[in-house]
Amino acid sequence: MKKIAVLTSGGDAPGMNAAIRAVVRKAHYHKIDVVGVYYGYEGLYNGNFELLDLGSVGGIIQRGGTMLYSARFPEFKETEMQNKAIENLRKEGIDGLVVIGGDGSYRGAMALTEKGFPCVGIPGTIDNDIPGTEYTIGFDTALNTAVEAIDKIRDTATSHENTFIVEVMGRNAGDIALWTGLAAGAETVLIPEEEFEIEDIVARLERSAARGKRHSIIIVAEGVMPGHKLGKILEERTGVQIRVSVLGHMQRGGAPSARDRVLAGRLGARAVELLLEGQAGRAVGIQNHAVVDYDLKEAYENEHKADVSLYTLSKELSI
Ligand code: ATP
Repeated sequence: MKKIAVLTSGGDAPGMNAAIRAVVRKAHYHKIDVVGVYYGYEGLYNGNFELLDLGSVGGIIQRGGTMLYSARFPEFKETEMQNKAIENLRKEGIDGLVVIGGDGSYRGAMALTEKGFPCVGIPGTIDNDIPGTEYTIGFDTALNTAVEAIDKIRDTATSHENTFIVEVMGRNAGDIALWTGLAAGAETVLIPEEEFEIEDIVARLERSAARGKRHSIIIVAEGVMPGHKLGKILEERTGVQIRVSVLGHMQRGGAPSARDRVLAGRLGARAVELLLEGQAGRAVGIQNHAVVDYDLKEAYENEHKADVSLYTLSKELSI
């Protein structure tokens, strides 16, 4: 193998740049050239390539977003698009591809691998929702961003004796809500994986009020229901004014945390090693502090489940 390519796809995540840097530096260490593909699979189809030398990834380890840009390109499910992408890659003398993204991006990588072009996947998404790895690149940063925001909201909630609902990201996965709730000491956490009753929340609020506590933070993952909708329901039920804060895209931005940078470095380097070993259709991840690799398919055929023990714990600690 003499030349490989790297792309970022799906939603951007802090630490993607650190992963690109790791891929480029590790490849150069082994005297392999690296081509950056701009705009994910769309760039692969359009041949939007640029050779990345050692200097091109200097000064990016601390930056959020992705220097290669990202795109949603649903057309890539079509086989002709995939054939054209492989043709473009081969024309450039590229023998392997590293895909940094979420489970959708992994499907694209597997499609190319099944057509004979070796790909390896690196989990880059703030949602922490990729089966086979305990953490994805970007999750730790998003978590810290959300906790910092909620700490600030708590200051005003305490001063004004308010109940706040904070909506965090997570359409199908409750990890951000759950970990944020635990770290910020939220009174209630609602995640897509667990059913809940409005009456339970009301009872919790009433219990808190009865022991003199006049402020409360409820964290809701966006996949459960919009924060404003929940606020309306609770206001109607309790007659108490509820404030709502939607954290939104700020959770996807910012400088990656040290943990995410280190994770990106370890996984990026391993992805290159796998391609050099002649392995294809593998995903890299982290399990019990060790770097692991597994079949890409496992990442999207299995279902991600948030750690329910943390849900129980968050309930116990916010009694
Ligand atoms: P996030 O978790 O941030 O949403 P993701 O990688 O899951 O990231 P998607 O939008 O699902 O984001 O997928 C990213 C891109 O991967 C798609 O826009 C498309 O180009 C490609 N892709 C998704 N599914 C497939 C598929 N079944 N076959 C080929 N390519 C796919």
